[in-house]
Amino acid sequence: MKLYNSLTRKKEVFSPLKKEVGLYTCGPTVYDYVHIGNLRTYLFEDILKRTLIYNHYRVKHVMNITDVGHLTSDEDSGEDKIEKSAKEKKKTAWEIAEYYTKAFKNDIEDLNIGSPGVYVKATETIEEQIELIEILEKKGFTYQIEDGIYFDTSKLEGYGKLTNLADIEAGKRVDIKGKKNITDFALWKFSKPEEKRQMEWNSPWGVGFPGWHTECVVMAKKYLGVPFDIHCGGIDHVEIHHPNEIAQSEAAFGENLARFWMHGEFLNLKDEKMSKSKGGIVTLSRLKEEGFDPLAYRYLTLNAHYRSKLNFSTEALSGAQNSLNKLRERFLDLGHEEGKVIEKYKKQFLEAMNDDLNAPKALEVLWNLIKDKNEKENDKKSTVTDFDNVLGLSLSSKATEETPEEVKELAEKREKYRENKDFEKADEIRSKLEKMGYYIEDTKESYKIRKYDK
Ligand code: AMP
Ligand code: ZN
Repeated sequence: MKLYNSLTRKKEVFSPLKKEVGLYTCGPTVYDYVHIGNLRTYLFEDILKRTLIYNHYRVKHVMNITDVGHLTSDEDSGEDKIEKSAKEKKKTAWEIAEYYTKAFKNDIEDLNIGSPGVYVKATETIEEQIELIEILEKKGFTYQIEDGIYFDTSKLEGYGKLTNLADIEAGKRVDIKGKKNITDFALWKFSKPEEKRQMEWNSPWGVGFPGWHTECVVMAKKYLGVPFDIHCGGIDHVEIHHPNEIAQSEAAFGENLARFWMHGEFLNLKDEKMSKSKGGIVTLSRLKEEGFDPLAYRYLTLNAHYRSKLNFSTEALSGAQNSLNKLRERFLDLGHEEGKVIEKYKKQFLEAMNDDLNAPKALEVLWNLIKDKNEKENDKKSTVTDFDNVLGLSLSSKATEETPEEVKELAEKREKYRENKDFEKADEIRSKLEKMGYYIEDTKESYKIRKYDK
């Protein structure tokens, strides 16, 4: 299996360090609903995990919930996102975090993204974070200024892994008074007396809260050890968040946090990254309100490679919904009998997925299989079901929903009316069925009952 490693900037053969693959994915900052751009990243990580499992690896997946310490600017300035949201919505910071964590988990479930084995909140590991900062302090990598404890990036040889330092330095605008180097970052921030924070803790340096980059290092190490296999996130993390995680790990433990670093490209809206600050975000709930099936969004993202930008539009999503509906119908047409997995197709499918998760290619293999007239229906059914372990489109569960007797009887009655050319009565029944969520598709010899997707 080959995966693109952002660290070496090439595709590398992957094999895990231990029996179980250690996978850490940076989770949401729970101050608001996530948008479908964020969800694209979690979908890519889900496909990665499913592909590892399809290759017979066991995966230990850890995802953090950032419930403190992520500031409105990634560069250690601005307000804490959770505290800000709490003020605006007149709730406690803890209520905000809990509410949006729940909303996030609903979205994940709707998209058929498997839950990580471990969810860990940043606020659950404050003690360990303080310990990490103490190690860094002892080794001489920290300094204190008015607003907190900072990591001195000039002390670490080779700081700036994953990124192009010159670009980063040129691109930085915001700076904090007293910071020694433009790339230095906060490990611990002090609560400001006028700020009245709800989330704050004692530390050897004073009351405050941890920096976002420290949190992830600690949570990853706690559950996976150092180094572990794969660390993932959105492409924006190659500039600040991930280099700063790596820097702390190298400084404190003498080695990189993870061996493979993988990043998902952005979902764009009108050729710009979908993001709150740029406006125009779309949530999954909105898509649902508009009548889309969340899995149509999943299908849409599968149709683009995770390292390519994907432009979102309602038209593109409608196209994905149509393709998914067609796929479900074709799957139903394959009948209920199981056959054997067709090795020729499985090989092509696996080759596509194992080539740095080429899901668009894998979908192509799936459609070629469906259209192949030389293969037996039951074998095709079993093969598609097997592929769906990776694609996660829930084809089987949608297909096994039994049609109620009442619906079958009505459909039969309608057929009789049609045979007797009583089209008015036949149409009456058709409308009745539609209200019940079913429609009839007339075929050459007879008819098929279909269920509207809801
Ligand atoms: P945040 O809550 O801002 O930390 O974002 C959560 C995750 O979503 C991070 O891994 C981001 O890199 C990712 N992300 C943010 N915006 C987008 C986008 N437009 N497309 C894809 N991923 C995104
Ligand atoms: Zn992180």
